[in-house]
Amino acid sequence: MRARIVAGNWKMNTVPSEGVGLVVEILEKLDSKYTGDTRVILSPPFTHLIDVIDHVWEVPQISVAAQNCHHEDNGAYTGEISAGMISDLNIDAVILGHSERRQYFGEDDALLAKKVNAAIRNSLMPIFCVGEVLEDRKANKHNEVVTSQLTQGLFHLSSEEFKNVIIAYEPVWAIGTGETASPQQAQDMHKSIRAHVASKYGEDAANNVSILYGGSVKPNNASEIFSQPDVDGGLIGGASLNADDFVSIVHAMA
Ligand code: 13P
Repeated sequence: MRARIVAGNWKMNTVPSEGVGLVVEILEKLDSKYTGDTRVILSPPFTHLIDVIDHVWEVPQISVAAQNCHHEDNGAYTGEISAGMISDLNIDAVILGHSERRQYFGEDDALLAKKVNAAIRNSLMPIFCVGEVLEDRKANKHNEVVTSQLTQGLFHLSSEEFKNVIIAYEPVWAIGTGETASPQQAQDMHKSIRAHVASKYGEDAANNVSILYGGSVKPNNASEIFSQPDVDGGLIGGASLNADDFVSIVHAMA
């Protein structure tokens, strides 16, 4: 059975004190002994990873992810954070390939493949994001684009390594825009991603990989999206900054 996951990507939002307030509020609303079937992942900025992990480490179904890592393990890279620095904090996942990193920081497929390797080498699960821009969808190239992102970014991994990967499909036109992919569009893409994984790693690997949808998931649309057979959860941006909204999205997964 593949894991069902709701992950909150806080992006560059909240100062540390606000982040702690948010995690405390989420825990209260989830019930701090949260034992639901849905795995919850919180992804705050680097500055409050430690504070957030301190609050959730006793709750087995809640974990913490970083939002980025460098592709080398150490060295003269002023201002950068390595995968090993993150995993040493008992953090077990990192978001890689987010469209904002691709778009604003020039992260291309080749660099992302190296970051994926750094994550795996340091026991961090990559939450690997893929997604097409609006022009690609209008030109009916969305499957091709996403397939290529997966192939370039992930498919150098061995079957054993691939077991540690979570995939997130985030159509760029749906991020922060209030416009969501329709449940059918999400399902179609998730099915195509799973088929592509099967073609490389086999049916078992494809059935076991969790594929999250991201892009304007809100309390009022989450359950319809999550009810699609190939949608295993969500990667939530804006709505993860509000404890009520985020918890109601977690409950929509049940
Ligand atoms: P929004 O939920 O704000 O559209 O962001 C989605 C996202 O980019 C999560 O990584």
